[in-house]
Amino acid sequence: MSRTFSIIKPDATRRNLTGKINAVIEGAGLRIVAQRRIRMTREQAEAFYGVHKERPFFGELVAQMTSEPVVVQVLEADNAVPAYREIMGATNPENAAEGTIRKLFALNVGENSVHGSDSDENAAIEIAQFFSDDQIVG
Ligand code: GDP
Repeated sequence: MSRTFSIIKPDATRRNLTGKINAVIEGAGLRIVAQRRIRMTREQAEAFYGVHKERPFFGELVAQMTSEPVVVQVLEADNAVPAYREIMGATNPENAAEGTIRKLFALNVGENSVHGSDSDENAAIEIAQFFSDDQIVG
């Protein structure tokens, strides 16, 4: 078993899609072993997306992530990182496969409903940014 970090983004919480997205996650066999609804601060969003800070959409991304509540989660599965990336679908929903979260729910490349870690190393860093070990119950 391994873990990945997930965010249900503001475009999805705004449309009351938390439960529908969790149903896709659980239906694919991933377990939600920690979950909290928060309002992300600007500092948290800038730190979280620091790797993108030179990209032209960085300001828009931080504004979007802090605009409404998000749900931060830890997911557990065999090979959790690639398992979740597969059910999330491509970054741009126009390219996302049928049945993926982004194909089902995303509005556009910026408002794409979910985040999922892209490596085990980043998953550990991202989980530690939002959860302590005692808040994760597998
Ligand atoms: P992910 O790992 O599939 O989320 O994709 P990336 O790590 O490449 O990008 C992180 C996030 O930045 C994406 O999920 C989008 O919310 C946002 N993003 C990426 N590319 C674009 C873009 O071209 N325009 C805008 N507005 N947002 C983007």
